[in-house]
Amino acid sequence: MSEPRPDRYGVVGNPIRHSLSPRIHALFAEQTGQHLTYEALLGTPGQFAEEVWAWFSSGFRGLNVTVPFKEEAFALARVLTDRARRAGAVNTLWRDDERQLHGDNTDGIGFCRDLDRLGGEVPGRRVLILGAGGATRGLLQPLLERHPAQLVIANRTASRAEGLAEDFADLAIETELSACGLDVLPASPFDLVVNATAAGLSDAGLNLPATLVHPDSLAYDLVYGPGAARFLDWARAAGCQQTADGLGMLVEQAAEAFAIWRGIHPDTAPVLRQLRHENDAA
Ligand code: NAP
Repeated sequence: MSEPRPDRYGVVGNPIRHSLSPRIHALFAEQTGQHLTYEALLGTPGQFAEEVWAWFSSGFRGLNVTVPFKEEAFALARVLTDRARRAGAVNTLWRDDERQLHGDNTDGIGFCRDLDRLGGEVPGRRVLILGAGGATRGLLQPLLERHPAQLVIANRTASRAEGLAEDFADLAIETELSACGLDVLPASPFDLVVNATAAGLSDAGLNLPATLVHPDSLAYDLVYGPGAARFLDWARAAGCQQTADGLGMLVEQAAEAFAIWRGIHPDTAPVLRQLRHENDAA
């Protein structure tokens, strides 16, 4: 008797060629014994909805969504999780038995799981998030649910940070939540500094003062690989002993999507180790 065909999954983005998601999900599938394939799918700007329906019609069971389609995926999903609604963006899509499209956002929980792995404490601590784009929006609910004493959102365009602080004010129950421009950052140090800007990917640096961190702060860049170097080098030069790039978050958000689709949560530690090993060898 021939083996049943594997279930199909994929990640849609543009560009997508360098995505690590196919490798991550292949490692999850191998570890958990799940019979599936996971492909990188190049989305066409302006045709996202049509392409998503075509992929599901052709047999895909679930899709991850990355830049620049997360907001379009949010608009397309008929049923949203609470965290996706708060984030205003969707990175995980699947259909139920009635073919209704569901959308979730696993970025925030992925970030918090990686923070746990690193021992990054949030309750009662001072947290600074640099950036006010889609990624920051996804982090705010899970971070505020951990009740930091203070959370400052700082962005190049201050009005975007202020808008986010207003949108999430109802969740800041035990937290002093505020917003500012990158040029007027507070002088006293933070326990956790998160770079959620895309600045590392451009030539322009953030020009941050060394007073933002102390030796026991954790400096975390959502970007992984060489794009994180500038921010993490700044943090180390400023005396911060613990730094991390966003590879752990990438693996954790993928694990959460895998669990939604397959009902089994993979062990992320060996997958993260394997990816670091492959990256170092490259
Ligand atoms: P986005 O919505 O495009 O927002 C970009 C943010 O970066 C904005 O706040 C923007 O400020 C700021 N920015 C861009 N260039 C800058 C510069 N030269 N100097 C200062 N600020 C600058 O992007 P996003 O979706 O939030 O993603 C942000 C980063 O997180 C990306 O690099 C993405 O790859 C990464 N990310 C990683 C993961 C992971 O799993 N590791 C998940 C999600 C996102 P303005 O508002 O002033 O333009």
